[in-house]
Amino acid sequence: MKVWINNNTKSISKKTAEKIKQGVLDIGFELDKKNPDIAISVGGDGTFLKTFHEYRNKVNNVRFLGVHTGHLGFYADWRDFEVDELIKALKNDQNKSIKYPILDVEITFRNGETKKISSLNETIIKRPSQTMRADVILDGEFFEKFRGDGLCFSTPSGSTAYAKSIGGAVIHPKSHVMQMNEIAPINNRVYRSISAPIIVPSTQTVEVILGSEKDYMVNYDTNSQTNCEIKSMKFKLSDQSIKFAQLRDRHFWGRVEHAFLGTNDFL
Ligand code: NAD
Repeated sequence: MKVWINNNTKSISKKTAEKIKQGVLDIGFELDKKNPDIAISVGGDGTFLKTFHEYRNKVNNVRFLGVHTGHLGFYADWRDFEVDELIKALKNDQNKSIKYPILDVEITFRNGETKKISSLNETIIKRPSQTMRADVILDGEFFEKFRGDGLCFSTPSGSTAYAKSIGGAVIHPKSHVMQMNEIAPINNRVYRSISAPIIVPSTQTVEVILGSEKDYMVNYDTNSQTNCEIKSMKFKLSDQSIKFAQLRDRHFWGRVEHAFLGTNDFL
């Protein structure tokens, strides 16, 4: 078994990563940065998202595993103080995994160039300085003329991140759907958009055709590109999924409760 361990710069993450490295070597695993069977992220959700992007093109062959060293770790099943249990679980690994959807996005720039990006949480198109104008085409048919700050397209596992902060629904990652959320839509007698989260099945594409302005910003997970001259963008759930190494049960709703409510202790 080949593994690689990514960590953020916090000293607890560095120490934990070193301990995991030694632990996997002790059970006869190899370290392989280029083609790991399991990519382990040690840190927070940002570190996990960066690890996902590093291996995006290898998701069919790589399983992912998160160890979190901070307060919140939505993508992490393990804590820094559980390294010994983690190593035991890796030794007894049955090659089981759990899949979550990925969002694919195709950007067409005004000069005709195209770029493909993916996200595990969300891709946001916005115009930071002034009103963003866009036509939204849903499954091949005109849906709305949007005016506002921007549009956010998220995966189910990203529904608890930025999308939730702007009024999106929390979606179980077993649902193969993407969510579109409007960011600060302008609604008055002149402009009207749906102003509610839209849930789109995996078979359908949403196309966003932008006004001719030159200062768009695209955020995808921890990445961002500014001052883009974008003509249009297409959003669709990917045919590929991210696979998490399932060494223990992942209970999504328990994670949501723990992260956002934390009330179970008082029952
Ligand atoms: P970051 O790494 O500092 O993360 C910001 C917060 O979002 C952290 O508390 C992190 O634990 C949490 N988070 C990330 N993914 C999550 C998920 N799937 N479910 C629940 N919580 C999650 O910020 P960054 O590096 O700028 O961006 C990483 C992600 O953080 C983005 O993809 C975005 O979803 C999220 N974010 C959210 C807001 C917001 O809610 N207003 C603002 C910025 C970034």
